[in-house]
Amino acid sequence: MQIHKLHDGELSQAEFGIRAHRLSQAAAAGLQVPEGYVMADAQAAIDDLEAFRVVITEIVEPGQLYALRASPGRPDWGGPYTLLSLGMNDEIHARLKSNGDPFVANELYRQAIVTYGIAVKNLEAEPFDTLVESFGDFTAMTSIDRSDGLLMATRALYEAETGIAFQQNPVQQIVNAVQAMARGWQAPTARILRMAKGAPVDAHLALILQKMVHGLGSKNGVGRAQFFDAETGQPAISGIFVTNTLTAGGASPKRQWSISDPSAPSLKKFDAAAFEALIKAEDKITNAIGDAPEVKFVIEQGRFYVTEVMLARRTPRASLAILRALVGRGALSEQQALLRIDAGSIAGMLHPQIDPDAPRESIASGIAASPGAATGRAVFSSEAAMAAAAQGESVILVRHETGPEDIRGMHAAKGVLTIRGGNTSHAAVIARGIGLPAVVGAQDLRVNYTEGHIKRGDEIVMREGDIITVDGTHGEVIAGAPKMIESNIGESIDDVLRWANAVRRMGVRVNADTPDDARRALRFGGVEGIGLCRTEHMFFGENRLSAMSRMILSQDDNERDQLLRQLERDQRSDFIELFEIMKGKPVTIRLLDPPLHEFLPNPEDDLTSFSRSVDIPTDTLRRRIRSLYEINPMLGMRGVRLGIVFPEIYEMQARAIFQAAAAVNKEAEKPVVPEIMIPLVSAVREVEVVKASIDRIARGIVEDQATEVPYLLGVMVETPRAALRAGELSKVVQFLSMGTNDLTQMTYGLSRDDAGRFMRKYVQDGVYEEDPFLTLDIDGVGELLVEAARRGRGQNKDLLVGLCGEHGGDPKSIHFCALQNFDYVSCSPFRVPIAQIAAAQAEILLKTNF
Ligand code: PEP
Ligand code: MG
Repeated sequence: MQIHKLHDGELSQAEFGIRAHRLSQAAAAGLQVPEGYVMADAQAAIDDLEAFRVVITEIVEPGQLYALRASPGRPDWGGPYTLLSLGMNDEIHARLKSNGDPFVANELYRQAIVTYGIAVKNLEAEPFDTLVESFGDFTAMTSIDRSDGLLMATRALYEAETGIAFQQNPVQQIVNAVQAMARGWQAPTARILRMAKGAPVDAHLALILQKMVHGLGSKNGVGRAQFFDAETGQPAISGIFVTNTLTAGGASPKRQWSISDPSAPSLKKFDAAAFEALIKAEDKITNAIGDAPEVKFVIEQGRFYVTEVMLARRTPRASLAILRALVGRGALSEQQALLRIDAGSIAGMLHPQIDPDAPRESIASGIAASPGAATGRAVFSSEAAMAAAAQGESVILVRHETGPEDIRGMHAAKGVLTIRGGNTSHAAVIARGIGLPAVVGAQDLRVNYTEGHIKRGDEIVMREGDIITVDGTHGEVIAGAPKMIESNIGESIDDVLRWANAVRRMGVRVNADTPDDARRALRFGGVEGIGLCRTEHMFFGENRLSAMSRMILSQDDNERDQLLRQLERDQRSDFIELFEIMKGKPVTIRLLDPPLHEFLPNPEDDLTSFSRSVDIPTDTLRRRIRSLYEINPMLGMRGVRLGIVFPEIYEMQARAIFQAAAAVNKEAEKPVVPEIMIPLVSAVREVEVVKASIDRIARGIVEDQATEVPYLLGVMVETPRAALRAGELSKVVQFLSMGTNDLTQMTYGLSRDDAGRFMRKYVQDGVYEEDPFLTLDIDGVGELLVEAARRGRGQNKDLLVGLCGEHGGDPKSIHFCALQNFDYVSCSPFRVPIAQIAAAQAEILLKTNF
């Protein structure tokens, strides 16, 4: 059996669990940690019970009390509660009673019996609590007779419930306790809970058998302290110290001492030397663990003992400030600090807040469960949230309360509102974990899922589909969309991103469709360019949609030409702005992609006002719109197929791009080299046809304006065939950009827009490990990407390879891209810092051969 002394150097977390690992680090750093032994595997220890008993017999010292503590592999894997005062029996009790405070001796024994009974003998806690109540005011128990009486009654109850007397043999107590803890660890619910937190099926439990230091009496005590503000991450000591911990201590009631406030009854005043020891301990522990600790300690007879070292709790924002401080004081290197960051959690810090001066129509308040504010359509089910998100719509998920089945819906939503719940309810915990603004426990509201409305009292204040805003920073629910202001992530992110940008090799670009998007993205700094400008979004502005729809519907060549020229002017001015904002950085412009019907109204709707605006009679209009009908438009007339069938659209776009580039480059210090990208390609001939016409237009611009317009041409790899034919394609283009949204859709044969209907069940039942639209499917889609990059680079050694699907903002997918040596990923603006940090982490891991 493996049993190690806690003080024999640093014990590994993998083998001895997190608690033993940290305590051994503290001991190795020279702090006083109560002596103890660590069993690496509780189950293995008791498999040979006789051998184990021999070991424990050798360890246990006569008259000594022990604590048995669980040391799971990770803090969130659970594990049985600590058992205190093991070894307690009549003999020790009698000694304590005659040598010390008899009330304390009684209470210690009583607690030992109760906790042992519950943990080892599976007894209920309630009868013991009732017993205590029946003895009256327990905290003011001043008569020793009553105290003795309570102890006797407790023993009697224990005997009545178990049928035997309380175990007197310390070794046997410990052996039984270890058996009980090993059993508890293997219980089905414990297994399920820890596996949900990522524990392997065969996760073992280490146990620490440690000498007790109680800190009993009025001169001694127990405390806990942390050294950074949990909200801001600024250095600030806080905590509490308690003397007379056993409350049935006769005339001496429990006393609390503040650690943070020197003016209140404080530890500093109570015991300056102990306070000093605490400060010194912090320095040693922080350096030893390279993180901000929360320390549990005991002061006994002037000695300062560390009994537990945990990581201090902190908000994601505070965690960055703490990392910065740790790097500043040399406890961590920048690269170690980067590896500590959960890149995904950065998203929550980047959410906008409601402008405090903006008018707002508040409909309820609740608990501010997860910071940030978000606006979207109110949806009442996770399915609806996923379906809407798949179409790029922002939604707020409104539920009575959430459960595990809602996690994917929460991922899809921009914010969450629940009627029930508190700060640690499911919605609050999950929302904080994924950085989603959330208000929970908005109890004044009633949601009616069937009728599709939210009521306050008798009044309907909102219907499903209405625009709603949740302010997770202040716990407010607002009707409509009040003015937002950009996020304030704090200064630490600047340092973190500086470290990340210095170490990462892979580029990070941004998906930005409009000049506004581009401006917002540049504020994050370190962005290498625009990796995807979905030009169709430029047609949705005021006046433009009408020109676009009229152009699509027109049957008169002259009118079409005119409308195309109007669109060209609009596009040109957008591109000029984009190029100016990006100051010579790459801008990847994707030619028109969506099916044309997306620019037209639904033919079954009332077309009266639209018919007036386009000046086409309603019935003709309906007929023309219907003529564009496709059974499966996502696999129909879209992407490059539009460019082949209606070449004038791509030509118009190419002209706008080149004219804009020529205009900007006249003045620019660094000329822009537009990267023109063709969507949904599946055959090289498609590219050749489009390329010929783009080249011709470029030559025309050169002749007209007597200026060169250098540009790169590329294709999106969004169909499996494009991935497989990447070698051939790369002979005629300069870059490939992996469009993993469509590529995932087409590889799985799984509609992006409808997957929400069954994805939850698929993921819940483990059919898919993850939603492949959120996190890249490395095995399938990933293999296509690897092949495409390999074949492409094989034919064109200068080929640029990027990725611009949603996966470009997902840490796991970004790691994959870095591993494959992609030149860049491109993601939405708020995900830029995530991508920069994830790319840096991948680089560090690659360099250090993790
Ligand atoms: C893609 O398919 O991955 C992509 C980026 O294009 P879109 O999402 O516009 O289809
Ligand atoms: Mg696509």
